[in-house]
Amino acid sequence: MAVVGAGAAGMMCAAVAGQRGRRVVLIDHFSRPGEKIRISGGGRCNFTNTGTGPENFLSNNPGFCRAALAAYTPRDFIALVERYRIGYHEKHRGQLFCNDSSESIIGLLRAECGLAGVQVRSPLRVDSLSLDGGAFHLITSGGPIASAKLVIATGGLSIPKIGASDFGYRIARQFRLPVVEPRPALVPLTFAPEVWRDFAPLAGVALPVSISTARFAVGPGPGQFDEDLLFTHRGLSGPAVLQISSYWEQKEPLVVDLVPNQPVSKLLRQAKEASRQDLGNVLAQWLPRRLALGWLATQIPLGEALADRKIAEISNKSIDQISKHIKSWQIIPSGTEGFKKAEVTRGGVDTRHLAAHSMEALQQPGLYFIGEVVDVTGWLGGYNFQWAWASAVAAGRAI
Ligand SMILES: Cc1cc2nc3c(=O)[nH]c(=O)nc-3n(C[C@H](O)[C@H](O)[C@H](O)COP(=O)(O)OP(=O)(O)OC[C@H]3O[C@@H](n4cnc5c(N)ncnc54)[C@H](O)[C@@H]3O)c2cc1C
Repeated sequence: MAVVGAGAAGMMCAAVAGQRGRRVVLIDHFSRPGEKIRISGGGRCNFTNTGTGPENFLSNNPGFCRAALAAYTPRDFIALVERYRIGYHEKHRGQLFCNDSSESIIGLLRAECGLAGVQVRSPLRVDSLSLDGGAFHLITSGGPIASAKLVIATGGLSIPKIGASDFGYRIARQFRLPVVEPRPALVPLTFAPEVWRDFAPLAGVALPVSISTARFAVGPGPGQFDEDLLFTHRGLSGPAVLQISSYWEQKEPLVVDLVPNQPVSKLLRQAKEASRQDLGNVLAQWLPRRLALGWLATQIPLGEALADRKIAEISNKSIDQISKHIKSWQIIPSGTEGFKKAEVTRGGVDTRHLAAHSMEALQQPGLYFIGEVVDVTGWLGGYNFQWAWASAVAAGRAI
C-alpha cells in the first residue's frame, strides 16, 4: 500500500498497517516530513486531550468522527507515549504536552514506522495518479509506484511554507468525492482599519472572556468559549479568538463578555452607593486598566468623559448601558489572518462519502482519506492530533 503525506496521520497509519504485515511505502514531497508536529504546541506538541469527544469537532457530518475516536482513544495514544518513556504534563483542561520537545513524538512515529518496515520516500513529488487494472498508479519524481491501496494523508492548507498543499482535495475531486470548502480555522481575526484604529493602541492587552458569535450567544455549548483574548495591532487573537474563528462566518458579529461570571450592572450600582472613585478606576477592578479606559472611550457616547466622572454622579441608565456593552460587546471582523497563520483548515473531503470505521471512500474501494484533509476539524487543545491518530489507526487496521 502507499500513503501520501508523512505527517501525524500518515506516519501513524503507515506504522499500524506495516505492523499488521502490510508492505507500506510512505511518500512526502517536503524535505522535513512531520514538520507540523515539530512546530506544534509551541515546540512541545499538545499531542492529545484527555477529554476528547465528538462534541470537540466541527464537521458538516458531526457524528462521523464518533466511531474512529471511540476505537482509538487518548488513553491509547498516552500508552504509546509512555511506552517510549516520553515525559508529559497536563497544561490546561486535559491538554497534554511533551515535557521536553515535540521531536520526541516525531521520534516515536519514526520508530514505529521503522519497526513496521515502512519504506519512507522523501522528498518525492507525486505528479499524477490514475487507476488501472484495480491498482493506483502514481507517477512520481522518483519513478512510477503502483499500489492496490492508497491512503491520502496530505493534511490541510495551513502553513504552505512547510509543505501544505491542496493535493488531497484534488485527488478527492478526481475520484468524484465532494470537498467541503476549505477555510482557515484556529486563526486570528482581523478588522477594517477604520474599525480597528481606536483599538490598535490596546495591542498586548490580554484578559479572560466568554466569546461566541451571534448565532451561538445563547449560553454554554459548542460555539461558546471561556478563554483568554488578546488585542493585537491588526485585530483579535488568543485562545478565545482562535477557538471562535472556526465557527465564525463572514459578516457575523462576535459577542464578547469582557467580565464573565460577574453581574456587572449590580456591582456598578453597589459601587455607586459605596464608592467615591471615578468610573474608570471602578472598571479597572475587573478589566485591565488600559482596556477599561480605552474601551469605554470607543463604546459609549461621551465614554471618555464618563471615565473621569465619579461613579456616584452617573445615572443608573448610563450604568445599565455600560454594563450591557461590557457583558455583550459586539464587533464584526472583516476577515482572518488566512492560511499563513491558521493552525488548521476547516472543511475538506466530505465525510458523507467515507466509511466511518475505515476512512475508505464509499464509491472508490481501496482509496482512503485520513487526518486533517477530511472535513473533521478539532478545537484548539490537542483534539486535532487525536483525530489524526484515531483516523489513521482506523484506516491502518482496515487495510
Ligand atoms: C503552528 C501549529 C501548531 C499546532 N499545534 C497543535 C497542537 O499542539 N495540537 C494539536 O492537536 N494540533 C496542533 N496543530 C494542528 C496539527 O498540527 C494538524 O491538525 C495535524 O498535523 C494534521 O495531521 P495530518 O497528518 O493530517 O497533516 P500534516 O501533519 O499537515 O501532514 C501532511 C503531510 O503531507 C505532506 N504533503 C502535503 N502535500 C503533499 C503532496 N502533494 N505530496 C506529498 N506530500 C504532501 C506534507 O508535507 C506533510 O508532511 C497545529 C498546527 C499548526 C500549524
